[in-house]
Amino acid sequence: MQQISNYINGQLVPPLSGNYLENLNPAEGKVYSFLPDSDERDVEAAAVAAQAAFLSWSQMPLAKRAAILLKIADLIDRDLEGLALAESVDQGKPVKLAKSVDIPRASANMRFFATASMHVAAESHLMEDEAINYTTRTPVGVAGCISPWNLPLYLFTWKIAPALASGCTVVAKPSELTPMTAFLFSKLCMEAGLPSGVLNIVHGLGKKVGQAIVEHPMIPAISFTGGTVTGKTIAATAAPMFKKLSLELGGKNPNIIFADCDFEEALSTSINSSFSNQGEICLCGSRILVERSLYDRFVSEFVKRTRALAVGDPLNEATRLGALVSEGHMQKVLSYIELAKQEGGTIACGGERVKVDGRCASGYFVAPIVITALPQSCRTNQEEIFGPVVTIMPFDAEEEVIAYANSTAYGLSATIWTNNLKRAHRVAHHLKSGIIWINCWLLRDLRTPFGGMKQSGVGREGGWEAMRFFTEAKNVCVKL
Ligand code: NDP
Repeated sequence: MQQISNYINGQLVPPLSGNYLENLNPAEGKVYSFLPDSDERDVEAAAVAAQAAFLSWSQMPLAKRAAILLKIADLIDRDLEGLALAESVDQGKPVKLAKSVDIPRASANMRFFATASMHVAAESHLMEDEAINYTTRTPVGVAGCISPWNLPLYLFTWKIAPALASGCTVVAKPSELTPMTAFLFSKLCMEAGLPSGVLNIVHGLGKKVGQAIVEHPMIPAISFTGGTVTGKTIAATAAPMFKKLSLELGGKNPNIIFADCDFEEALSTSINSSFSNQGEICLCGSRILVERSLYDRFVSEFVKRTRALAVGDPLNEATRLGALVSEGHMQKVLSYIELAKQEGGTIACGGERVKVDGRCASGYFVAPIVITALPQSCRTNQEEIFGPVVTIMPFDAEEEVIAYANSTAYGLSATIWTNNLKRAHRVAHHLKSGIIWINCWLLRDLRTPFGGMKQSGVGREGGWEAMRFFTEAKNVCVKL
C-alpha cells in the first residue's frame, strides 16, 4: 500500500516518529494509503529548512522565481489525469469535477501568482518640496499555510502560490483527510527544480502539526482555510504572538431568487450551487430564498431535478455527487436531517444513505436533501452543515430577504437572481457578504479580493490582497 512522505528541505522523508495514519478512500470506506503522523519535531525541521532557504529565494531575480512556479503549473497540466484521479479517490468527489475544475484551477493559481509577482509596482508619495516617501514591500519570511479537505490541491495552491511568488518560503499542512495531491505536488516541485527548503509539506493531524505551525516562533504569518471553530483556536494562539493572520472560514450562504429572474438559469445554477462537490464547498448556497409568487413552481422543479441527480461511484463520468469525505462527516450531515425534522421542517427529498453496488458498497453516499418549512432563526438555517443539504424558504419583500440573508453569524458569499438591474445592485449593496454573484455562481477572477465578513473570516485572499498579505510594507521618508 502506498506510503505518503513529508517534503522537507527538498527531500521526501518519513515522519520523525516513524508513525503513520490511515488514509481512507471514502467511496469505498477502505484504507488505501498511509500518511505521516508528524509532530512538532517535523514542523521544527521544516521551519529550519524554510528559514535557511529564505534569503536566496527572496533575493532570486523575479523572472527566475516565476519561471520555476510556471514550470510547476505546466507539470500540473501535464499530470491532470493522474492528479484528478488521486483527488477523486482521496476526497470522494466526482473525477469529472476534479478534472474540469479542481486541478485546472490549481495550475491557474500557480500561473496567476507567478506572473502577478512580476507586475507589482512600488509606491511613492511626494510631499511637495519637503520630502519624498517611498514604500517597499518585502516578503514576511516563512509563511505557514494550512488548508482543508474539500478542494485539496486547489486551496493548497491558492495559499502557497502567492506566498512563494511574494518571496516567502513556506511550511504547509494539507488536511489529514486528503493528503495525496499535496504529496504528488511535492514530487512536481522537485521535478521543476524548486530549491530545497522553499516549500515544505508536513502531513498529519491539525491538533499536532497545524498547531505546531501556528505556534512556531520562526513563522510570522499564517494563512488558514477551514472551519470557524478551528479558526478561533488559531486566532487565539497567533494573536498574542502578533502574527499576521488570514482566516478563510465557514459560510451559510443565501441564494436569493426574485420572481423576475431567468427561471431556467436560476434553477439549473442553483442545483450546482447547492450540490456541487456534494455541497462541500464553502461557497455553496445552502439557504435558497425564493420570492413567494415563484416559490411553489421553484420548489417543485428543484425537487424534481434534485431527485434526478446521479449519486454514485466518483470514477463514473456520469456521477454528479460522489461520496462524503468521511464517515464522521456523513454522520454529522445526517444528524442535521434529524435536527431539521425536530425543528418542524419538511424533508422534500433525500436524506437517506445511498447504497452503491460493487466496489463502492461501503462508501459514504447520501441522497441530496431539500428541506422546506423552516424558520430562518432555527439551527438548521443558522449553522454550517457543509454537505448536500439545502433549505428553501419563501419571502415577500426585498427588505425582508435582505434581513434573512444577513441573519446568520456568517458572511462569506451570496447569490442574487433578478433581471431588475437597480434591485440587483441595491440588494448586493446591503448584503453582508464578502463575495456576491448576480445571475451566476462560482465565477472566479483571480484579481479580485476573496474572503468573508463576520465569522466567515478575517483578511482577504486573491490578487494583490494575497501578495500584500505575504509582504510587509516599509516606508522611507527622505528630506529633500
Ligand atoms: P478544519 O477547520 O477542520 O481543518 C482545516 C485545516 O486545519 C486542516 O488541515 C486541519 O487539520 C487543520 N487544523 C485543525 N485543527 C487545527 C489547529 N488547532 N491548529 C492548526 N490547524 C488545525 O476544516 P475542514 O478541513 O473540515 O474544512 C471544512 C471547513 O473549511 C468548512 O467550514 C468550510 O466552510 C471551510 N472552508 C472555507 C473556505 C473559505 O474560503 N472561506 C473554503 C473552503 C472551506 P486536520 O484535517 O488534521 O484536522
